[in-house]
Parts: sequence; structure tokens; C-alpha cells
Amino acid sequence: MGRHTTFKIGGPADIFVCPEDVDDLLNILRYAELHKMDHFIIGGGSKLLVGDKGIRGFVISLVAPAFSGIEFEGDTAAAGCGIKVHELIKKAAEKDLGGLEFLAGIPGTLGGALTMNAGWPSRAIGDLVEEITALKGLEKVKIGKDGLKFSYRSSSLGGLVLVSARLKLEKKAKDKIEAEMKKNLEKKRKTQELGYPSVGSIFLNPSGSSPAWELIDKCGLRGKSAGGAAVSEKHANFIINRGNASASDVRKLIDEIQKIVFKEHQIMLKLETKLIGEF
Ligand SMILES: Cc1cc2nc3c(=O)[nH]c(=O)nc-3n(C[C@H](O)[C@H](O)[C@H](O)COP(=O)(O)OP(=O)(O)OC[C@H]3O[C@@H](n4cnc5c(N)ncnc54)[C@H](O)[C@@H]3O)c2cc1C
Repeated sequence: MGRHTTFKIGGPADIFVCPEDVDDLLNILRYAELHKMDHFIIGGGSKLLVGDKGIRGFVISLVAPAFSGIEFEGDTAAAGCGIKVHELIKKAAEKDLGGLEFLAGIPGTLGGALTMNAGWPSRAIGDLVEEITALKGLEKVKIGKDGLKFSYRSSSLGGLVLVSARLKLEKKAKDKIEAEMKKNLEKKRKTQELGYPSVGSIFLNPSGSSPAWELIDKCGLRGKSAGGAAVSEKHANFIINRGNASASDVRKLIDEIQKIVFKEHQIMLKLETKLIGEF
């Protein structure tokens, strides 16, 4: 799984499968149900810490073209959930449609961004959603925005397989979109650690207190390491893989950060990162 995650960490999946289209996906889900096998949907793997012993059952990746199409109608875009977020922004900009610029530099797919309600700094993708098409078990469902809940890095979409989404965009000239994206990317390059494999922020910012990076920083934890994993010197809420980190190294560092921050600030940091598989 290290080949499929931005952390470049993770043992093997029993079965890694890329369905060709929705019928193919349904066949896999049917097979998994019949044989009582687990399944996990992976997007860009940019929010996952996969255990060193890997993942049992199916890991399903929606990379086939059938899951990454995009159609525009007026100021809305209907896109497959396998599309990469940067492709989505680029294709919308070509049609003079903006509103997605705040997502520039966030790796991964539309499906992952929706599940995580990805965003930066204060906007999030959930605000743009009009309708989701998904598989609930083996049934295809459409859920309008009134039936969906999005909150800070969280959504009510867990348990569904997201197939496509209709997003409300805004009319904007392509050069203006590109200029805003450039500004956002520059800001990110200055503040985030992009030189090493990571999953972005490890912890959620606790509500009503300083951001997680500041709490970690105040404990003097920048640069602290466990095996090949280390707290980034540039952004204290990033853990980086310095080359050969294992999932257990990262887990050990997470535990230590939580313990020390709790001792110093009486705040238990919660993970934004998803721990998947066997450790
Ligand atoms: C350098 C860096 C910077 C980052 N900056 C930001 C940032 O500024 N803001 C931010 O919010 N995040 C940021 N992230 C985190 C991450 O990129 C986002 O959370 C991203 O949206 C995850 O998308 P993904 O496709 O990689 O999802 P994955 O990591 O593959 O999966 C995340 C979750 O989504 C689920 N999922 C994915 N696709 C589907 C689907 N089709 N159907 C059902 N479930 C699905 C998975 O099962 C899993 O539960 C950053 C990460 C990195 C590495």
C-alpha cells in the first residue's frame, strides 16, 4: 500500500482492484458481500496511515476513466469521484468556472475530498455540493444537499461508495482563477512541509484553543523522531516520512505527541488522519 499512499507507508492489501465502471464495481461489492470479505475505497491515499501488516479483503480504487468524467451545465459541474482534485479545478477553469481555488494544492480525489470535507484555510468543499450519487450497499442512491451533513474535516458520507457529485461553481475568468490558485499555492509552499512524504495535518485543530501545530510547537516537539518518522521542522502538525518510516514509527510518534501535549496543555489531540488496516 506504500505505493498508493502519499505517506509511502503500508503493508500489502489482500486484493487491490480497479473496477472499469459501476457494473464492475457492483460485481466486486456483491462478491465481497457473498464471501463476507471487507472492502475499503481508496482515493489518492493522501489522508491514510496504512498499517505495516496491510489491509485484509478488497482495496478498491476508482481510477478508471468511467469514474473521472466531468460534465458542465450552467454553473454546475457533475464529476466522477475518482477525478483528481487538481484536474477538476483545471477543467472547470477552462470553462471559466471557479469557486474551487481554495482546494489548490490539496492532493487526492473528489471522493476523498468529499468524505474528509477537505478545505483550506476556512472554506471547505461541502459548501459546494448540490447532489451526490453513491452506492449504499448494492443500491444506487442520489442524495441532495439537504440530506448531507458536512462539518470540520468530516461528513455524513461514511459507509457509502461515492460515484459522482454535482457541485455549484461560480462564473469567473480563467486568468483570475489561475492567479488565485497561484497565490494559494505560494502560501501553502511557505507554510506546509511539501518536501517529504506525509498526509498533511496529522491532528485536527481542537475547538476553542490554539491550533494543533501551535500546541505541538509549544511543547518543543519540532524535529522529534521515532525511527524514520519525524515531526516536521516547518509545520509542527505534519509528520514526515524521512525515507524508511514504518506505520509503527508514525503510531509511536502520534502517541508520544498526544501524551506530551496532554501533559502540557490538558488537551487530547484527535487524529485527522485515518488509520487503516492491521498494525
Ligand atoms: C501535502 C499535503 C497537504 C494537504 N493539505 C490539505 C489541506 O490543505 N486541506 C485538507 O483538507 N486536506 C489536506 N490534505 C489531506 C488530504 O489531501 C485530503 O484529506 C484529501 O481530500 C484526501 O483525499 P484522498 O482522495 O487522498 O482520500 P484518501 O486518503 O484515499 O481517503 C480518505 C477517506 O476518503 C474515503 N474515500 C475516498 N474516495 C472515496 C469514494 N469514492 N467513496 C467513498 N469513500 C471514499 C476513504 O475510504 C477514506 O476514508 C493534505 C495532504 C497532503 C499530503
